[in-house]
Amino acid sequence: MTEQVNFGDELVSPEEKMRRVGEVFSSVARRYDVMNDLMSGGMHRLWKDRFVARVKPRPGEDILDMAGGTGDVAFRMARRGAHVTVADINADMLEVGKSRAERRGLTGLSWKVENAEALSFAAAAFDAYTIVFGIRNVTDIPAALREAYRVLKRGGRFYCMEFSASDWPGFSTLYDRYASYVIPKVGKVVANDEDSYRYLIESIRRFPKPAAFRAMVTEAGFIRVNAEPMLGGLVTIHSGWKI
Ligand code: SAM
Repeated sequence: MTEQVNFGDELVSPEEKMRRVGEVFSSVARRYDVMNDLMSGGMHRLWKDRFVARVKPRPGEDILDMAGGTGDVAFRMARRGAHVTVADINADMLEVGKSRAERRGLTGLSWKVENAEALSFAAAAFDAYTIVFGIRNVTDIPAALREAYRVLKRGGRFYCMEFSASDWPGFSTLYDRYASYVIPKVGKVVANDEDSYRYLIESIRRFPKPAAFRAMVTEAGFIRVNAEPMLGGLVTIHSGWKI
């Protein structure tokens, strides 16, 4: 029997998880950006600003924004003069991103459908690899981390921002209630899709705590691995270097 993996709180086969994650993002693509604002009260913009400040993109650098979706993080890095490749497994998310980039008159971006677990890029192709709110949706996370390491140049940097359950007792209970009851209902009203938002919340609760994920990043070969938790680990910026 094939090993089962979590799709939110359900156990499914790895193939089924990949198919269902695809359905989630195809379904939410058009309303994804407005839902991000509603779900986080606009906070995701501050988290992304802080993330990009940590990455410190420089003019002319080649950066891979993996699971880049509709381009929020890539746009911030392109504005600093980096060449950003926005890669995502979901073509619908990338299409929304391309239209947004056009409307903003942004250049310096390439768009590519890619599975984070098996990239088509050559080894040592990028100065930095970023993945924001993406890795918890990947079925084989160690494989994605190994690929991140492979496509980075020596001296390249890895940055990942992801949700997890917060360690602050009162806040964590409050957030959990808000997330479990309110977000799927808002998803129903705004995006006509309660199930996708229920999955997104369950996957946050299930993602490894910062210390455990940090060990996975180290296992992939990165050094100077660091985790910077915010709001008790509700959101954490992970980083590491390839030497
Ligand atoms: N990084 C963007 C942001 O912060 O706004 C988008 C994040 S969105 C929550 C997660 C993205 O991960 C989706 O666009 C989804 O298609 C993508 N994704 C899920 N599994 C993936 C995989 N195996 N490889 C590449 N992208 C994947």
